[in-house]
Amino acid sequence: MNEHDIASIKQLLSTPKKIVIVPHKNPDGDAIGSTLGLYHYLLKYNHQTQVLVPNDYPTFLKWVPGNDTILKHDSQTTECDALINDADIIFTLDFNALHRTGNMEPVLAKSTALKIMIDHHQAPDDYAAYTFSDVSMSSTCEMVYHFISMLGDSSLIDANIATCLYVGIMTDTGSFRFPSTTSTTHKIIAKLIESGANNAEIHNNVYDTNSYARLQLLGCALNNLNVIPESRTAYMTLSQDELQKFDYKKGDTEGFVNYGLSLNNIVLAAIFIEDKQEGIIKISLRSKGNFSVNEMSRLHFDGGGHINAAGGRSELSLKDTVEKFISILPSYNKALNDE
Ligand code: 5GP
Ligand code: MN
Repeated sequence: MNEHDIASIKQLLSTPKKIVIVPHKNPDGDAIGSTLGLYHYLLKYNHQTQVLVPNDYPTFLKWVPGNDTILKHDSQTTECDALINDADIIFTLDFNALHRTGNMEPVLAKSTALKIMIDHHQAPDDYAAYTFSDVSMSSTCEMVYHFISMLGDSSLIDANIATCLYVGIMTDTGSFRFPSTTSTTHKIIAKLIESGANNAEIHNNVYDTNSYARLQLLGCALNNLNVIPESRTAYMTLSQDELQKFDYKKGDTEGFVNYGLSLNNIVLAAIFIEDKQEGIIKISLRSKGNFSVNEMSRLHFDGGGHINAAGGRSELSLKDTVEKFISILPSYNKALNDE
């Protein structure tokens, strides 16, 4: 996105528009924080603005300012489709390809609204009139901060915007510890705190509101942890029965995969979660250093993401998916041991 694009977008946003903002399916902290952060900013210019999510998101995000205005496409389809069809502008946030919105893809693809992408995932598709894509960014929330700054409006960042953007930067950087965290990230965080983000409260709301059942589920996942030392890999599984036993709620398994990566000498971690309703095994992959789980997921698990964090899926059984994973590891042994 160059200065000319920014000038055009500024011009476009200078009169009230009908705007829809959409994140990826199964929205995470960055997806919810970035869409609601942008939502509060656009309201300042009196745009008719609406965040539409493909489906539900975890309870630990259901306090973020503006949360109660969000519409869900899977349960409010007619209303959401009408808003998309009627929109002048559609912002697509925190995803690189329209299929990542699940069932929203066809209606988004057909819409003639001007599309603006803001995203930090690898391999952005070319569907938007304006594409602000930067894979070096910690989070889409950090990019929304830059977007507002480029439009000359940093001074408009209030406590609501700051809180939303803080959430996504915090969750996507693993609380400011992943390599994507730069000195600029920290400077932005400082500005967000100055603008009214209450850091201690935000960390508490997201990370310290566990149910007892969720910690029991974590215990179950840790019990299922396996290590393959020659591939410097750790993986865990959760079957549908295990999820049910511990009263699984959306978002409960968020972050579990990182425990594998916390083992000494491990550079690749995976979790395989059975989802009988969707008929898939949901896969999360994490790595350290230059080992690209984005490439591994693209090649073998119909997914993608970032170098050190990617998601994917498999239509095999849980057992067969794990066997497939184990069978491809030897071809990566050299790369994994070079880390
Ligand atoms: P998670 O394992 O938490 O589901 O995803 C890790 C990261 O990879 C997140 O940034 C997520 O948005 C991204 N991701 C997950 N699944 C996919 C996918 O199918 N395609 C792409 N491009 N990115 C994905
Ligand atoms: Mn993100």
